[in-house]
Amino acid sequence: ESYKRIQEVDGKVEAFLTLDEERAREKAKQLDNEIGKKDTYGLLFGMPIGIKDNIVTKDLRTTCASKILENFDPIYDATVMRKLKEAEAITIGKLNMDEFAMGSSTETSAFKKTKNPWNLEAVPGGSSGGSAAAVSAGEVPFALGSDTGGSIRQPAAFCGVVGLKPTYGRVSRFGLVAFASSLDQIGPITRTVEDNAYLLQVISGLDPMDSTSANVEVPDYISALTGDIKGLKIAVPKEYLGEGVSRESRESVLAALKVLEGLGAEWEEVSLPHSKYGIATYYLLASSEASANLARFDGVRYGYRSDNAETLIDMYKQTRAEGFGNEVKRRIMLGTFALSSGYYDAYYKKAQQVRTLIKKDFEDVFEKYDVIIGPTTPTPAFKIGEKIDDPLTMYANDILTINVNLAGVPAISVPCGFANGLPLGLQIIGKHFDESTVYRVAHAYE
Ligand code: GLN
Repeated sequence: ESYKRIQEVDGKVEAFLTLDEERAREKAKQLDNEIGKKDTYGLLFGMPIGIKDNIVTKDLRTTCASKILENFDPIYDATVMRKLKEAEAITIGKLNMDEFAMGSSTETSAFKKTKNPWNLEAVPGGSSGGSAAAVSAGEVPFALGSDTGGSIRQPAAFCGVVGLKPTYGRVSRFGLVAFASSLDQIGPITRTVEDNAYLLQVISGLDPMDSTSANVEVPDYISALTGDIKGLKIAVPKEYLGEGVSRESRESVLAALKVLEGLGAEWEEVSLPHSKYGIATYYLLASSEASANLARFDGVRYGYRSDNAETLIDMYKQTRAEGFGNEVKRRIMLGTFALSSGYYDAYYKKAQQVRTLIKKDFEDVFEKYDVIIGPTTPTPAFKIGEKIDDPLTMYANDILTINVNLAGVPAISVPCGFANGLPLGLQIIGKHFDESTVYRVAHAYE
């Protein structure tokens, strides 16, 4: 069914980079034969899933939407892939994204521009634009994305689907091609909150292959979906409804708060005073980490190697000049500059200090409240081409999602009305490792 739908619509939506049809059909046949013949079935038995192309899949092309990995076929599976196989899900293919997950529109992909299924002239968001568009267009019911500064939640909001960034450490990053290691998390994109909880259940947990994965018990997320939010305390940051946030986004959040009030929750306005430093802090730290992580793409170890060089140093230079796109080069240069001696204290160290203050803002609010609620994005999806030549405007779009990554807390985006025929997202942010409450509120609202 997934392949039928992909045939019908992917020519227009262009969400997939690679399909794994033969193996998927074989797997489906095998699972079909097992029906009625065994006592226990995987939690995602027979469920089709699409995978963002920065998650490594054994013997299945993994490009990060970059020319530098155009022909890269990994020899191992990411931990999340191993867990999906154990849960008996069926991998349908790999999904388009911004190159190395750097972007907010999927326009920096070296291969194709994914369209928003609600309006083919609008971007699907990014960087997990392929994942959100594929779920929104009905090509797959489940997808994995990754979120460093909003890359799951923002495309989920733009495409009218559900996307969760788990707590940092909740899901193993082993086999996720690193962008900014202290911020990256893999997470689920689905049509409903319940499906989302099932997928997180499968991929969560401590992994000896990732030293930053957390030794925290994984609760039963499904049982959190009670529909009961009586007495729940909601904080609404005034910074998330103020300047720079469109009237439509603000009004849709206020309408959602009414619904939640009707269900017995209470809300109050609070302040996250350091929010306004989020963009500067994030782009500095993320670029610094990226410049170190992307040093490995040198034409020797992986993928593309330039043919035009005569010396070793030339080979490095040419390979990187030809293999990386403009946005990736911009980040590498910014990061290298911020980390260079003489500038380190003024930029990188300062940004780390501000990150601590941002994290503290969240901790203070969570002393009194169960969740924080606001819009996922300041506006609905913008037009393809509208912001791609203006990095600062593109970066500004991340203002409401970025601080969550800096603080390491979990957050979901659920559909919350429309503006100009395009979906809007409601963002529900929780305490560290409290995805259960986030799901409970999202499910009650949905
Ligand atoms: N838009 C942000 C960036 O370009 C976030 C990307 C992400 O979360 N991977 O860095």
